[in-house]
Amino acid sequence: MDFVEQLKSSVDIVQVIQEYVRLRKAGPSRYSGLCPFHNEKTPSFSVHAGHQFYKCFGCGAAGDVLKFVMEMERISFYEALKLLAERHGIPMPRRSEYSDPETKLRAALYQMHELAEEAFHTNLKGGVGTEAREYLERRGVAPEISTEFGLGYAERSGRGLVRLFEKHNFTGEQMEASGLVLKRDDGSFYDRFRHRLMFPIHNESAKIIGFGGRALDPGEQAKYLNSPETPIYRKSYLLYNLHRAKQGIRQTDRVVLVEGYMDVIGVYASGVHEVVASCGTALTSQQVQAMKRHSEKIVVNFDPDAAGANAAERSINMLLDESMHVRMVELDGGLDPDEYCKQRGSEAYRAKLDAAKNYFYWLADRARGKFDMRTAEGRVAGFQFLLPGIQRLSDKLERLAVVNDVAGYLGVDPGPVLENFRKAAAERRERTVRHAAEPVRAVERILLNLVLVNADARSHLLPRLKRMPALAQFSTRRIFEAVFALDEAGNTVMFSDLDARLEENDRTLLASAVLADETDSEVLSLEQGEACLLTLESAQRDTERAAIKAQVRAAERDGNFPEALRLSAELSRIDRG
Ligand SMILES: [Zn+2]
Repeated sequence: MDFVEQLKSSVDIVQVIQEYVRLRKAGPSRYSGLCPFHNEKTPSFSVHAGHQFYKCFGCGAAGDVLKFVMEMERISFYEALKLLAERHGIPMPRRSEYSDPETKLRAALYQMHELAEEAFHTNLKGGVGTEAREYLERRGVAPEISTEFGLGYAERSGRGLVRLFEKHNFTGEQMEASGLVLKRDDGSFYDRFRHRLMFPIHNESAKIIGFGGRALDPGEQAKYLNSPETPIYRKSYLLYNLHRAKQGIRQTDRVVLVEGYMDVIGVYASGVHEVVASCGTALTSQQVQAMKRHSEKIVVNFDPDAAGANAAERSINMLLDESMHVRMVELDGGLDPDEYCKQRGSEAYRAKLDAAKNYFYWLADRARGKFDMRTAEGRVAGFQFLLPGIQRLSDKLERLAVVNDVAGYLGVDPGPVLENFRKAAAERRERTVRHAAEPVRAVERILLNLVLVNADARSHLLPRLKRMPALAQFSTRRIFEAVFALDEAGNTVMFSDLDARLEENDRTLLASAVLADETDSEVLSLEQGEACLLTLESAQRDTERAAIKAQVRAAERDGNFPEALRLSAELSRIDRG
């Protein structure tokens, strides 16, 4: 068995995918969930534990565990292999046959980031890190927390990382690509981060892919400086702390979204583990999708200042577009989440999260602040301000209830708005076309599932099936032909081998046969397979009989009685079976 096969047989695809997607058990070996590769509200993504594959009937994404990791992490085949091997403690043969230049560059960048984190952390603990340590102390960050988050300090000289990377023989090209080092006009290099408190940024697989740096010099213009986009760091896809938070997000079934690194650390340290932040960018739809894979419920807790409120307002629409359930927290005393946790304690903060208001009340309060609610015009303007947010609610009843609530809250007539909503809803219905898998006939489905898992069924059923004229009418004809070919070559008929021999359409057909609600191959018996063949055989006899009867009638009409007699004899032979 080659290494790829060995790896695939020792990892559980359900377990691997569950790291990224919440799956629900849909049968003895079937799981379903929201597709991570396209935006959807009802699950069309399935995973089959027995045959170890996934398939989305919405966007067509499909494959084995390696393909999933490649697509999810946007990495090469070799990197996916390496990642799974490392995660499961399977030693990987040292070969570079899968490795292309881009893969090699990314591997170097990961290594450089690890080295940088170690160096920054050592700085923080050492003599040069005094100022940074004092800052953390002022902000109430305990040393254990600073270690857990891998905080560090980038020294003033601007030569620390350059020297480190040179010592490890990284090339100038690699250094530049890392984003950690900048090139002067004369070709020499210097560190991007100088005299800053450093926050490592991890991807969902817990690999360090970038840094955020907070200035320690109050005169510094840029308070925060982040790594630029690199071959391993794509800002719009990344949420700070998601790799640590995802466990907590699933347990509590909610995401707490805050604005900055220090908020994440403060909130996390107080025991609320489901907290993430976007890394110095406005919230993107990719980031929302990353959260949504773990929970569809979000509590937004941005800073209480005007900038925070504006950012929250923009985020609401982005979140609603991805069908998240959005609630808003407002903390009293003008405190940000970090300060609140420290001053009032985690219990008080948790109570605030639990009592968070639905976003439209928060928006209504914003409207009250923006418009003059004493005049009719002001109230209407306020209502108009709220509409886009309400319109994004996907549930119709909820939408109508909210319109009534908010109209009452602002003292306006909801009538005309409701009328508009009805029209918009009708248009939306027309636009929505549901992608459904082509259903496979019950007999074909049962036979296919049986021959995939049961060697007895193969030896008993395949020879008979092969001779059947009915096979020509099967929608799964080409799949069975591939089964025959594998069987004749003396192979066990494995799902993956079969799948590999098929064209795209037949692959989808095979997946839908294997994932159909009524199909649980473990409980299918050889007797059921026999019954299917009998059904097919008797249907075949019916067809033949009908054809001969028609010929008899034609012969009689033409006065060709010897032919009519011969055909009648054939008919009774068929009837005797
Ligand atoms: Zn999909």
